[in-house]
Amino acid sequence: MAKMRAMIVPEPGQPFRMEERDLPEPGPHEVRIRVQACGVCHSDALTVEGQFPGIRYPRVPGHEVIGVIDALGPDVAGWAVGARVGVGWFGGSCGTCRHCRRHNAFACEISLGTTGVSRDGGYATHMLAEVSALAHVPEALDPVQSAPLLCAGITTFNALRNCGAGPGDLVAIHGVGGLGHLGIQYAAHQGFRTVAVNRGRDKEALARSLGAHDYIDSDATDPAAALQAMGGAKAIIATVTSAPAMQAIAGGLGVNGTLMVIGAVGVLTVNSLDMLLKRAAVRGWYAGTAADSEDTLAFSQLNDIASMNEVYPLAQAQAAYDRMMSGKARFRVVLKMEG
Ligand SMILES: [Zn+2]
Ligand SMILES: [Zn+2]
Repeated sequence: MAKMRAMIVPEPGQPFRMEERDLPEPGPHEVRIRVQACGVCHSDALTVEGQFPGIRYPRVPGHEVIGVIDALGPDVAGWAVGARVGVGWFGGSCGTCRHCRRHNAFACEISLGTTGVSRDGGYATHMLAEVSALAHVPEALDPVQSAPLLCAGITTFNALRNCGAGPGDLVAIHGVGGLGHLGIQYAAHQGFRTVAVNRGRDKEALARSLGAHDYIDSDATDPAAALQAMGGAKAIIATVTSAPAMQAIAGGLGVNGTLMVIGAVGVLTVNSLDMLLKRAAVRGWYAGTAADSEDTLAFSQLNDIASMNEVYPLAQAQAAYDRMMSGKARFRVVLKMEG
């Protein structure tokens, strides 16, 4: 029987282990993907450290997947062997539940699984995916370079296009890291007056080269006051992983402004008086559906937007993951499947 290889998390908190498995056969409405590349995302820690309720182990993480369909299960229409596809955090939707019928497939009630969390993901040579989770990937995009667009990309692109800001409005990208360096590019290309906010001046030149019109050093200045001095932000895209840092910038919202929270930081405290006087809002956002992924990829190709990546072979998934968790990677880490 043909085999595949996967880097599994044997139990929460344990190191990765390479496992050889029989190639799985796709079930109804599923395809098998030969994985070409998979990004390593901070949310993989939920699987690695067992922070998400109900995960069964061993589990293969990875939700920034690009590959090629190499087998179709029963009842699959509209997809062919050889097609280039991408899979993100969104593991698929039923199409018939209350939320799906109201165009909120991201919140499907009949969970078809979350990639790399409740179903095996892309730290592997092969994986299975629900057809409703598949995004078409343009042939011109390099799989290794583009894999991070399936989570870091879609999350920032989609949060920005749903943040309520219009052309020329002041939008702050809080954090110039894995998410933020993409967020700056998307914000500038979506026509916003783009302000990058980060600690220190180290990343200012890079942020400006990616399209930021202004830069705020949140170590040297109060970022909320600095944004107010610019007229108040129509939106703040909060990519940081620290609740106190988000709290410190929330006051920078302008009238009808929205703080888009895309980094999971647990409990977040905001000043309710400040919020109600401005009719400001705090809104959560996670990546999006397969169609959102396609929009992200198309927009990225059109505007030449890419993430900066450090690439590791699959066998070095542990080193890749540790590098990502160190916060020192510039800026995304990607696993490239060898052979
Ligand atoms: Zn992710
Ligand atoms: Zn549904």
